Amino acid sequence: MKAGKALGVMNFFRRKSPWVYLLSQGTCNGCELECFAAFAPRFDPERMGARLVASPRQADLVLLTGCGTKKASEKARRVFSQVPEPKTVVQVGACAINGGVFKCPGPRLGGPSQVKVEGCPPDPTEILTAIKKAMEEMTCSER
Ligand code: SF4
Repeated sequence: MKAGKALGVMNFFRRKSPWVYLLSQGTCNGCELECFAAFAPRFDPERMGARLVASPRQADLVLLTGCGTKKASEKARRVFSQVPEPKTVVQVGACAINGGVFKCPGPRLGGPSQVKVEGCPPDPTEILTAIKKAMEEMTCSER
């Protein structure tokens, strides 16, 4: 199989079954609760292939929460570097977007795609919609 075709197949399956890692960098835990609620049986995102994974090394997509405190953002950067390329980021909640009520410096993690979910905390359905949007936007870059 040629490289281009292989990447196309890989993209197809990534879009169909994103594996999601929840990365927190200093929060009140409100956004985490909504993220876990989004993956609970009520919304059942596994029906569209999305599932939470315990290791960043298995993830296609990172749900980023928190405002980026001094201590937590250092660890978050290290964990984020373990997520394989191509990776995409969904910023969940006001803190992850602009520091929120805590007025932290905000996230400093990069990624090819940065979908934002507004709210304090956001609704689980909005989180799932953002995951879907991020996976649609994601493209597989050649290594
Ligand atoms: S956005 Fe709101 S709910 Fe989410 S971590 Fe910040 S303060 Fe908590």
